[in-house]
Amino acid sequence: MKPVFKMLVAGALALGLAQGASAQYPAKPVNLIVPFAAGGPTDVVARRLAEAMSKPMGGTVVVENVVGAGGNIAVDKVAKSAPDGYNILIHHIGMSTSPALYRKLNYNALTDFEYIGQVIDVPMTLVANNNFPPNTFAELLPYLKANKDKVNYANAGLGAASHLCGLLFMSAIEVDLQTIPYKGTAPAMTDLQGGQVQLLCDQTTQTTQLIETKRVKAYGVTTKVKASSLPNLRTLDEQGLKGFDLAIWHGMYMSKGTPKAITDKVNAALNTALKDPAFVAAMDKMGAIIVPPAKATPDGLKNHLSAETAKWAPIIKKAGQYAD
Ligand code: ASP
Repeated sequence: MKPVFKMLVAGALALGLAQGASAQYPAKPVNLIVPFAAGGPTDVVARRLAEAMSKPMGGTVVVENVVGAGGNIAVDKVAKSAPDGYNILIHHIGMSTSPALYRKLNYNALTDFEYIGQVIDVPMTLVANNNFPPNTFAELLPYLKANKDKVNYANAGLGAASHLCGLLFMSAIEVDLQTIPYKGTAPAMTDLQGGQVQLLCDQTTQTTQLIETKRVKAYGVTTKVKASSLPNLRTLDEQGLKGFDLAIWHGMYMSKGTPKAITDKVNAALNTALKDPAFVAAMDKMGAIIVPPAKATPDGLKNHLSAETAKWAPIIKKAGQYAD
């Protein structure tokens, strides 16, 4: 056979195999990769999502926690995974802040993925151990100024939402606190309740219940409007941090080159899940806001990711905190 024919036959065969694989997809469980520890805010949402997506996917979606480097180990793993549809990443705002926070990343968030769609937006809350002396936000600021060497602020590593919130908060009040990184805010919250660390900014998907049952004390919500799950908690903005407005957006990604038939199927399953009554009720209870259908699209995610990457770079540079 002439080389050019050989190439054509091989190409046709590969295409046929890819089409066959897409038609059978999923032929085994699909991993939904969570970049943070089990039991934390991203994990609880992902587990609900995996449940709601399994039926429309026509197969099981299972959560896998791949932790470390503020979420970046998981992002890199998915970027490098085979484009066969069996690894889906759910990640948040960190996808847009990590390029400014790290001098070197092993992936490019804007080019190394197939973009499935945005998922939810989640407000954050500033919380503390119950024995931490300040009881109100008004008491918190002078306390932090006077005791900054005694206060530890927990986060889930550089690139985590809790890190970003802390960075913005410390820069707004002009106090530098000692930060303690964890592999997710689930273990950070355990240590906060145990008194090993005092302060944490974390998503309502983890804090709502803890605040309601008074297992932690809360100082305020990071968004300009109150969180639907915590109607009695005032915003940081209305308590004096004018302009403080941070919501944690989430998106879903697959590795570059995943066949369109597969990414379309995952996008359709995501959109079905976002309307699933059990998923909707669970998100509502945790204060998460489901995105409108126009955002749960590849373009909706990609455009938002580019805009957010451009938005955060100068802010992070100004607040200053980088890793190699
Ligand atoms: N969302 C992370 C978690 O699930 C923590 C963070 O981003 O701060 O633990």
